[in-house]
Amino acid sequence: MSGDGRRYVVIGGGLAGLACAVWLAEAGKDVTLLERRARLGGRTHAMHAERVEDRADNGQHVIASGYEHLFRYLASVGTRDFVVFPRTSTLRWPDGRQVTVQTSGLGAVRTLFGVHPDAGIADRLRAARATVRLGWQALHPPPDLADLTTEQWLQRVGMPAPAREALWDWLALGIAAEPVARGSAKVFATVMATGFRMAVKHRTPVNIGYPTVDLDTLFVSGALRVFTERGVTVRYRAVARRVQISEGAVTGVLLADGTVVPADDVVCAVPNSNIVGLLDELPEHDEIYSAADELGYTPIVSTNLYLDRPLGTASAFEGLIGGTGIIDEVFDRQIMHGRSTDHGWLYCLTTSGAYEQIGRTGDDIVSEQMALLRRYYPAAADAEVVEAQVVKMPKATFAQVVGMDSLRPPQRTSVPSLVLAGDWTATDWSATMESAAQSAARAVDLLLTRP
Ligand SMILES: Cc1cc2nc3c(=O)[nH]c(=O)nc-3n(C[C@H](O)[C@H](O)[C@H](O)COP(=O)(O)OP(=O)(O)OC[C@H]3O[C@@H](n4cnc5c(N)ncnc54)[C@H](O)[C@@H]3O)c2cc1C
Repeated sequence: MSGDGRRYVVIGGGLAGLACAVWLAEAGKDVTLLERRARLGGRTHAMHAERVEDRADNGQHVIASGYEHLFRYLASVGTRDFVVFPRTSTLRWPDGRQVTVQTSGLGAVRTLFGVHPDAGIADRLRAARATVRLGWQALHPPPDLADLTTEQWLQRVGMPAPAREALWDWLALGIAAEPVARGSAKVFATVMATGFRMAVKHRTPVNIGYPTVDLDTLFVSGALRVFTERGVTVRYRAVARRVQISEGAVTGVLLADGTVVPADDVVCAVPNSNIVGLLDELPEHDEIYSAADELGYTPIVSTNLYLDRPLGTASAFEGLIGGTGIIDEVFDRQIMHGRSTDHGWLYCLTTSGAYEQIGRTGDDIVSEQMALLRRYYPAAADAEVVEAQVVKMPKATFAQVVGMDSLRPPQRTSVPSLVLAGDWTATDWSATMESAAQSAARAVDLLLTRP
């Protein structure tokens, strides 16, 4: 370790904290990572399914090709090759109709302009015109965009119903994790604009991909290797209570057990749900706490279903149109991970904006998801559930609803040796892994370039 004699402490071992710790260690710094749980990974982690001897995830995570900071992290921890970008996906309707959607090249442009089997030529032309308007307004936002829901924006640009049903509504839901009637048009527009810029920079449209391994292998195992090589100290079950500041500089982090971890620089990489109290000694703490509170939460429910037979999916991930009306995607872990089916076939379903599901029991959710699969896949009719995991996350991300975007605090604080990171801080992205990674890049940059 070359070191500058300063002690860097990162609070929070989710993706943002891991990225900060890895990049500070790469820069030769003396780093301690504090994580309140007994494991790293935060909201992206694998779970053991004992009965079927398998490892599934707490929720399916997809990755956009424009996630440049996330890819930088994966390169740092040696797992970049575990993400692939399929060229096609499938949309299904309950009556058995299905459409193959191209997700790259010219086919992707066709997808943008309407793939619904019921869309006539007039609808497709309207969809093309509306898509161009949407793109233009994403890059040159009208002054009132921040006051609109995504639905109002789609209506305003004249997006026809079939194009919304087959693409735009669920794309917007996927990005903001909120139903279009609640989701902020500004959030959607910002992500679209970032996507366009990435596409121009890399001369290829932004594509959606997925990991071919579980989330611990993707994010945590490689980080632990870096930590061992570079001498990073990881403290598990270390609950940070308050960052101590004296005369405008950080001096340490007080833990719940009453001990203090001495620090010269601190990255606070906890979610908005855990920030209160930590920054009490920072002059602007009231402002940050009230933003954290106002940002609120969106629930996500994930279900891992191990079935006794294959469903007959055509793609790694498929969109079910007209399902629960929120967002229904089925991820086939056999295609994605090439996993053995000795103990059953694993299908992962994630419901974003799960305001209704979140209050139901695990058994009810499994029955509901099986009923959904039976409407779309004939093979599901007689399928038995061998094992099921239901993960209910009431505070999955902050709520990306109208008016929230401007609340996100920057990484910089008034104390130069204290920075913030995490998906909820101000970035070019919605609450995503890329937002977590970008916030980490900015936070580390602020510390490393400080005079
Ligand atoms: C089910 C689900 C599906 C998702 N799907 C996608 C997707 O498809 N694509 C995508 O890009 N994003 C997706 N996301 C969002 C993505 O997972 C998050 O944006 C990202 O993981 C957030 O990382 P983070 O480091 O900011 O926060 P976290 O992962 O929450 O990490 C914060 C860490 O801080 C720790 N901590 C908190 N308080 C303290 C304290 N006082 N002391 C010490 N440690 C503390 C926590 O235990 C945690 O480990 C999904 C999220 C969920 C829940």
